[in-house]
Amino acid sequence: MKNHTTENFGFHFENSYLQLPNEFYSKVQLNSVEEPAILLLNRTLAKQLELNVDALFKEGAQVLAGSQIPKNAAQIAQAYAGHQFGHFNMLGDGRALLIGEHVTKNNTRFDIQLKGSGRTPYSRGGDGRAALGPMLREFLISEAMFALHVPTTRSLAVTTTGEPIYREQVYEGAVLTRVAASHLRVGTFQYAASFCDREALKELADYAIMRHYPQLMQAENRYLAFLEEVLDRQASLVANWQFIGFIHGVMNTDNMTISGETIDYGPCAFMDRYDRSTVFSSIDRESRYSYGNQPQMAGWNIARFAESLLPLIHDDVDEAIQLAQKTIEQFPSIYETYYYNGMREKLGMLTADPGDEGLVDELLALMEENEADYTNTLRALSENKRTDEAVFQSPKFGEWEQKWLTRITQQGSTLEEALQVMQSVNPVVIPRNHQVEHAIQTFVEGDTAPFMELLQVLTNPFHLQPEHKKYTQLPNDDTPPFVSYCGT
Ligand code: AMP
Ligand code: MG
Repeated sequence: MKNHTTENFGFHFENSYLQLPNEFYSKVQLNSVEEPAILLLNRTLAKQLELNVDALFKEGAQVLAGSQIPKNAAQIAQAYAGHQFGHFNMLGDGRALLIGEHVTKNNTRFDIQLKGSGRTPYSRGGDGRAALGPMLREFLISEAMFALHVPTTRSLAVTTTGEPIYREQVYEGAVLTRVAASHLRVGTFQYAASFCDREALKELADYAIMRHYPQLMQAENRYLAFLEEVLDRQASLVANWQFIGFIHGVMNTDNMTISGETIDYGPCAFMDRYDRSTVFSSIDRESRYSYGNQPQMAGWNIARFAESLLPLIHDDVDEAIQLAQKTIEQFPSIYETYYYNGMREKLGMLTADPGDEGLVDELLALMEENEADYTNTLRALSENKRTDEAVFQSPKFGEWEQKWLTRITQQGSTLEEALQVMQSVNPVVIPRNHQVEHAIQTFVEGDTAPFMELLQVLTNPFHLQPEHKKYTQLPNDDTPPFVSYCGT
């Protein structure tokens, strides 16, 4: 047996995707870059992946920039379609190169993808490149999400290319090394259903089931069971987003994975004050993907997924539609169960009581009314602190608090026990937009220290060292509202 850690930087590629029909991917020519340099390497993740960390850091820049291909790499871009803000388009990896599926010793498979490595057959008018700032942003936020216990793709490295890229200004080009359970998306199935034959769609579905839900191979109706599983994962994922005030910003069907991992940190951002209508993305003019709409939009995406599976669910179209319909109708209640179970825990309610949903909703309404910061309010409650914030001063809060305390006592636990649980699920810090922007800006200008400190703080979001208190602060009142941008 080969020694995985010394050869090929420890990458051990087995490329199962290549067994799918050719129409699902395209081989990509290498795009050599001027002067690749690794700016960030996620050593913890590299170790977990059993990579040769030191060799990768010293000599891996060419590989991580997509200038050189390691042994046994797949070197492909994947085909997919998708509904972008409700409109169906053919897409595909226009600026990403799947170098291969890395398999660890315990047989876990990870896609290793280079984002921003140059043009592919799906680039259309784009240059296939990415700017340093947005790649730093994806690195920081995806790692923060992981630390917040949200399923997500991970970031292994950010590598600069030494080449300028041209947008409304000139930026430094960079490549993000993304690690994912797979890059199969709802949009991959829409592509198969729209542009391929039934046999190809079936091969894709069987492939996805084998890769992510192998237990379903024996199910009576494998494809209906597959729909149910993906629905369940997505419902759980969006509940996870709601728990921490995460707004994805571009929940197009091509950005929804079959594995249930969060993917594509373009215009995403975190909500400070609790407001269900919060939107940050400059291109989301109709607030389609606002915080409060996210669950509904995930349900909409699942309905698109169901449509693409119809030919497999049943030979009779009407029967297939009926079965799929029955399944997708369950999305709201499955989501609500995940959501209220999680929110119950966030409020230290360790048993289930019919009145719990009301208590959760009442607190959120109080936050909204008093423009309270979502994260800080929940954390203050978890530490049994009442600040001079308006939400805690309002008489209605006093009434709510009495009901809540009675509820905690009734479950047979002490307040102390409830607070312990609350502190383990209510973060002290989240990636606050003004801090993330400052960290990225200073990094791009050459001072990496603020970014590295923020990254370190966000890697341990349920604990805070006293000297890091500033990371819990909101932007000043005179800070202009945060706006995020896509595809930069
Ligand atoms: P995203 O908004 O990042 O999910 O991207 C949507 C689609 O646009 C995907 O097909 C991307 O591959 C493609 N795309 C985004 N930026 C570029 C770029 N600079 N060059 C080529 N394609 C791109
Ligand atoms: Mg995308």
